[in-house]
Amino acid sequence: MCESFSLTHICFTCQKLYLQPKLFTRKLSNNIEVISFYRYKEIKELLHTKHTDLGFYIYKILANNSMKLFAKNFNFENTLYSVAVDDAPKGNYAHTAILNNSLRSKHIKPLHAKLRASNTISYSGKSKLFREQNSREFQVKNFVQKDIIIVDDIITTGSTLTQACQTLQARNKTILFCLTLADASRK
Ligand SMILES: [Zn+2]
Repeated sequence: MCESFSLTHICFTCQKLYLQPKLFTRKLSNNIEVISFYRYKEIKELLHTKHTDLGFYIYKILANNSMKLFAKNFNFENTLYSVAVDDAPKGNYAHTAILNNSLRSKHIKPLHAKLRASNTISYSGKSKLFREQNSREFQVKNFVQKDIIIVDDIITTGSTLTQACQTLQARNKTILFCLTLADASRK
């Protein structure tokens, strides 16, 4: 960080310089589209703050620069409901809940604590096979809304999001697309 005086953790000049969102799209194996805003390596150090108290502020800044803008410009004929992957707080806050909240807009309404991973084993650095053999075992809290967007911070192999889709589809939800901050497969 540039260390110039700033009332936010990343000054607005740096936000403009380094956090301009892009629009990357890819498809999960189930053909559902995932939209991401940054290359993972571009914001890796920022994403690593998520397990500290600083992460609350950093994720908010990342969300404001990307997902919030996306939601503001998002037009659709009816209302969609966003569900975050495992947004139960660990420690003082849940980083995916921050992302989800930033989507609140005319056509997107965030739902809270609907999808909880009962297996929180780390997928970091693990193979696709390992991820498939160690399912997230998502649990869903009942809700009536049908048209869903799934939100997470990072997509790597897509295993977590694919499992999240399957879990919600088994509850007769329609997944329109997924949103993540960063795509680790982008070079
Ligand atoms: Zn700065």
